[in-house]
Amino acid sequence: MKGKKVDEIIRLQDITKHFPWKKRKYVKAVDGVSLSINKRDIFGLAGESGSGKTTLGRVILRLIDPTSGIIFYEGADITNIKMEKEMDLRRKMQIVFQDPYSSLHPRKKIKDIIGRGLKTHHLIENERELVEKAEEFLNLVGMGVEHLYRYPHELSGGQRQRVAIARALILNPGFVVLDEPTSSLDVSVQAEVLNLLKNLRENLDLTYLFITHDLSLARVFTEKMAVMYLGKMTEYGDTEDIFKNPMHPYTKALLSVTPQLDPKRKTKKIILKGEIPSPIDPPVGCGFHTRCIEKIGRICEEGFPQSKEMEKGHFVACHLYS
Ligand code: SF4
Repeated sequence: MKGKKVDEIIRLQDITKHFPWKKRKYVKAVDGVSLSINKRDIFGLAGESGSGKTTLGRVILRLIDPTSGIIFYEGADITNIKMEKEMDLRRKMQIVFQDPYSSLHPRKKIKDIIGRGLKTHHLIENERELVEKAEEFLNLVGMGVEHLYRYPHELSGGQRQRVAIARALILNPGFVVLDEPTSSLDVSVQAEVLNLLKNLRENLDLTYLFITHDLSLARVFTEKMAVMYLGKMTEYGDTEDIFKNPMHPYTKALLSVTPQLDPKRKTKKIILKGEIPSPIDPPVGCGFHTRCIEKIGRICEEGFPQSKEMEKGHFVACHLYS
């Protein structure tokens, strides 16, 4: 089965991921998400914790199976393939995790952490090649050869995340999921790591899926983005369009409490009441209706709003626009 466009790297069609819960219930972590990511895009996936964005990232990478829906990579349906047998595809899709403290093996030297994938994929023949490649990729992420024989605990948080990036890139992937890659770093180091990632995207022709709860980071780093709430996509489009003209009440609320690039621009803060509902028993109708200040009555409580293209490439799922 083929995807629609040749320059697409990822296309999702109606992806769900429901985890079994006690008494025959399910956690609906991802619920009917469709989107596409073009080659060389930096695509943001934003939302509060519990919105399903990290689960969706793992489903795309086939670290976990979707419950239903179809995943295309470069036009090929990869939904049901066995990733342990598809070594080439595993190599092409990599991830950088949120926490560099726990994602690096504490008792391995940096050269072995960076080079492990080369061994797994039989891309080197001996230790000398491993050290040469590890050095090359350490340099690529702005670190020197002196770090090759150190252990993770001897590095700063920013250096560890650079090592995690080198480990992902040494396999020459096309698509990288960045799962909150700077959230455990100081603000000044965050900026350095994001600049590095942008430069690497240019130089290595990479495509990123950038998962974040921080919309100010999504604005400076991404080109397109989707906002998720309770496992569903509420708004999707070019990042600048969404920031200039947010349409979904949830997006408006998130942006109202996000620091503005222009400090003179005043936006009335919208404070969402209550917690995000449980994905085990999500509200019927629009999942956001229990917190929405623009709710328009029973229609919001009874029918889930379908995503509609309001401007070119700008999609919104809300009854206000039906
Ligand atoms: Fe609010 Fe209704 Fe739109 Fe949901 S569908 S966001 S409840 S207005």
